[in-house]
Amino acid sequence: NLTDKLDKAFHILKGHGKITDVNVADTLKEVRRALLDADVNFKIAKEFTNKVKEKAIGENVLTNLQPGQLMVKIVKDELTELMGGDVAGVNLSGNPSVILMSGLQGSGKTTFSGKLANFLKTKKNKNPLLVACDVYRPAAINQLHVVGEQIGVEVYSEPENKNPVEIAQNAIKHAKANGFNVVIVDTAGRLAVDEEMMNEIANVHKAIQPQETLFVVDAMTGQDAVNTAKAFNDRLNFDGVVLTKLDGDTRGGAAISIKSVVNKPIKFIGTGEKMEAIDVFYPSRMADRILGMGDVVSLVERAQEQYNEEEARKLQKKIAKNEFGFDDFLTQIQQIKKMGNMKDLVGMIPGANKALKDVEIEDDAFKHIEAIIHSMTPEERSKPAIIDGKRKTRIAKGSGTKVEQVNQLMKQFDQMSKMMKMMQGGAGKNLMRMMGGGM
Ligand code: GDP
Ligand code: MG
Repeated sequence: NLTDKLDKAFHILKGHGKITDVNVADTLKEVRRALLDADVNFKIAKEFTNKVKEKAIGENVLTNLQPGQLMVKIVKDELTELMGGDVAGVNLSGNPSVILMSGLQGSGKTTFSGKLANFLKTKKNKNPLLVACDVYRPAAINQLHVVGEQIGVEVYSEPENKNPVEIAQNAIKHAKANGFNVVIVDTAGRLAVDEEMMNEIANVHKAIQPQETLFVVDAMTGQDAVNTAKAFNDRLNFDGVVLTKLDGDTRGGAAISIKSVVNKPIKFIGTGEKMEAIDVFYPSRMADRILGMGDVVSLVERAQEQYNEEEARKLQKKIAKNEFGFDDFLTQIQQIKKMGNMKDLVGMIPGANKALKDVEIEDDAFKHIEAIIHSMTPEERSKPAIIDGKRKTRIAKGSGTKVEQVNQLMKQFDQMSKMMKMMQGGAGKNLMRMMGGGM
C-alpha cells in the first residue's frame, strides 16, 4: 500500500545528513510511484513531486530531524494543500436550501442523501425533505423511502410521474408550503457517463437552481473517478465532491486527483453503509490517512518547536569535552518535559525503546530529579565527580529525598552521559538529539 511505499521511499533518505539533489530525486521517484499506485493521476503525481522537490532542496535539514522525517512533513503539508487546505461547508443560505445530488449509478447518492439529511437534522438543527427523482426504477424510490423512515425524514415522491424536473419543482413547492428548510434531491445515475443522463441532470439543475450541487463518487473507482468528475463538472459546474466508500483501507488517492482536476472542494466522505457513516472532509486528516504516518508527523512538528540550534551546538561541544553537567541535564529534562509524555515520545522513535532499556523513564520521576539537582551547589552541578557520600547526604536532606534516590540519579546521569557520548555519531544520533530536546 501507499504507506509501505512511502516508508520505502523515505528509507532511501535515512542515513543522509542533508537533503541533496541526488537523494531527493531517488525518494521522489518512489513517492511518485506510491501516489500512482494509490490511483493519483499521473500528471498530478508529477506536479506534486516537483513541488515537493522545490521545497526539499535547499531546505536546511534541521539537525535534530532525519531528512526522511522532514520529507514526510513536506509531503504531508503539500498533500493537505493539494486537497484544499481548509474545510469547506455546504451552502445552506436558501429558503429552502436546495441540494442536488449527481453521480453515477452505485456511487452512493441515495445512501448519501439519507446521511446528509440525517446529519443536517441532528447536527445542524435543520428540517430536511428528501426527494426521489430517480424515476427509472421503482426500487430506487422505495430505497429512498426506506432510508427516510430509518432517519425519520419525510420523502417526497411521485411514483406515476416520469419527469424528474417536474418532481423536483413540485417537491420545492411542497417544502415551502410545509416548512422544510432543506431539500435534498436524489437523482438517477447510469453505470457510465452518457448524454441522456447528463441532459437530464442538467435540466433538473437548470430548473431548480440549487444552492449546492454535490458530485458523489465512489473512492474505490480510482482513475475512473477523475474522468467522471470532469464530465459532470463540465456540465453542472458542481460545488463540491462527496467521496464515498472510504471505509476499510481505501486510501483515497482519488481525493487528490479529483480536487486537482476539477478544482472543487471535497466536502464530505462516506465511511460505511450506515446512516451515521458520514464525515466532514478534513484535508489534513486525509493527508494523514494517505500517508498513514500521523505519529511521525506530529513528532517531527513537536521536535521542530523545541529546536534551538544555538543551544544544541553548545551542548554537543560540552559532551565532546566531557563537560556535560547536572545543569545541562536539568535543561534537557525541562526540554523533554515540554515535548510531552516521555513514554509516548520514546514510543514514536523507531528503535528507541531498545536503546533506552537501561534508562528508567518515568514522568513523575522528573519531580525528584529536579529537586535533587536544585539542592546541589553550582560546583557540584558542573563537576559531578566531587559528589561524595557526605555531599549526597546533604543533597538528599535538602531535596527531601533519600540518599538512594540521589545515588540512582547519579547512576542515571552517568548512563546518560555515556550514552550521549556513544551516540555522537551513527544511528543513535537522532535519538540523542531527541533526548537533548534540540541538538
Ligand atoms: P446510488 O446508485 O448512487 O444511489 O448508490 P446507493 O446509495 O444505492 O449505493 C450503492 C451501494 O453502495 C449500496 O449498497 C450502498 O449501501 C453502498 N454504499 C454507499 N455509500 C457507502 C459507503 O460510504 N461505504 C460503503 N461501504 N458502502 C456504501
Ligand atoms: Mg440511487
